Amino acid sequence: MTIFRPLTRRSFLSGTAAAGAVILLHPFSARAQANQAHLRIMETTDIHVNVLPYDYYGDKPNDTMGLSRTATLIDAVRREATNAMLVDNGDFLQGNPMGDYVAYERGMKEGDIHPVIKAMNLLGYEASTLGNHEFNYGLSFMDKVLAGANFPFVCANLVRGTQLASNPREDSLYIKPYMIIEKTLKDGAGAEHPIKVGIIGFVPPQIMIWDSKNLTGNVMTRDIVETARAWVPQIKEEGADIVIALSHSGIDIGTGDMMENASFHVAGVEGIDAVFTGHQHLVFPGKKDFQGLAGVDTEKGTLQGKPAVQAGFWGSHMGLIDLLLDRDGNSWKVVSATSEARPIYERVDGKNNPLVGDDQRIVDELKPEHEATLAYVRRPVGKTSAPLYSYFALVADDPSVQVVSQAQTWYVKDLLKDSQWKDLPVLSAAAPFNRHSPSGLPLDFKLA
Ligand code: MN
Ligand code: MG
Repeated sequence: MTIFRPLTRRSFLSGTAAAGAVILLHPFSARAQANQAHLRIMETTDIHVNVLPYDYYGDKPNDTMGLSRTATLIDAVRREATNAMLVDNGDFLQGNPMGDYVAYERGMKEGDIHPVIKAMNLLGYEASTLGNHEFNYGLSFMDKVLAGANFPFVCANLVRGTQLASNPREDSLYIKPYMIIEKTLKDGAGAEHPIKVGIIGFVPPQIMIWDSKNLTGNVMTRDIVETARAWVPQIKEEGADIVIALSHSGIDIGTGDMMENASFHVAGVEGIDAVFTGHQHLVFPGKKDFQGLAGVDTEKGTLQGKPAVQAGFWGSHMGLIDLLLDRDGNSWKVVSATSEARPIYERVDGKNNPLVGDDQRIVDELKPEHEATLAYVRRPVGKTSAPLYSYFALVADDPSVQVVSQAQTWYVKDLLKDSQWKDLPVLSAAAPFNRHSPSGLPLDFKLA
């Protein structure tokens, strides 16, 4: 497709450098002996329907996003790894105009494949969990989307109905809480052995508040850590050699019931070997986020000593946890681990340079949905006689915020018009976000 900015010589060179770096052997590959194996587990998270490096709001290419770019990092690891797995951590279904186009315009008929699933189906995921945004368009929409995936979903704290059992293991769950994947691992001497990898998933319990309209009366949620403590022993009893958590939940060392960001405490649950995190749209390990928290090692990438990763958002990073496993009799245990969040771009001199190109399969397969989304966002919705921008929304009256407020008032008045509240005055509050950067200002704009 020609819409993407071609790689410049400079970005091509840095891309080659990155591609060179990713095929360097991980130390575990060199170290693994007979009865030892190096397993690489890759994560994507918070894709939010960003399958291509394109910003549909700005209607222009954007090198900081796109599963088609992350896919190239995934492919590079797959090509050199002896043993590799790929998982997703949820929040794939909502968050950009392509998602809205499918939900509000095209719809999901029985048997339709959602574009984000169409892209994910190309990459060979072994499992995914549900993020909070999977519920934004309602349960039946989500069910139809999940049915199109060629990989399974796990979530242990989403309960069907309106009753929690006295023991989490007796809950009637909306989807299966965990699964055990049987794989063959090649050890350091080239011999093959079976391994059982347990995978359990969690969603922030706050979906009951955030999506109350869709969920109240249909499902309930449980505390993530309570749920993990209940199920992990069963996964071990069923023979899992290692257990990994797909925790659509961030990293917070605070404590309490029903924590939104519970991944730090999930890492502390006995039997969990690695934690894939997300939801906060931050990066772990790394030099920027989560600095100075007790029990959080931002250099090694560990939470309470267990390997963990958080792969940014919209495909900005691929999460990678490397495990060195020791075969002890008939089962495996983790003897060493490293963690990394590998970016798809680098920021140099205020510019975003791509580090990888696109996975052409995704670009080609998603062309119809890309073009339909462009038509959807380019369709005029009205006319304004005055320029609308929001650069000063935080400090002065602002016409863009006023339009939002008027739209909200119109929407609520319309809902009330046939009800007993039809004569109530309707007030509207709108948040003055700064949506425009200075470079986004109209060309004829001048600071007075
Ligand atoms: Mn998200
Ligand atoms: Mg989320």
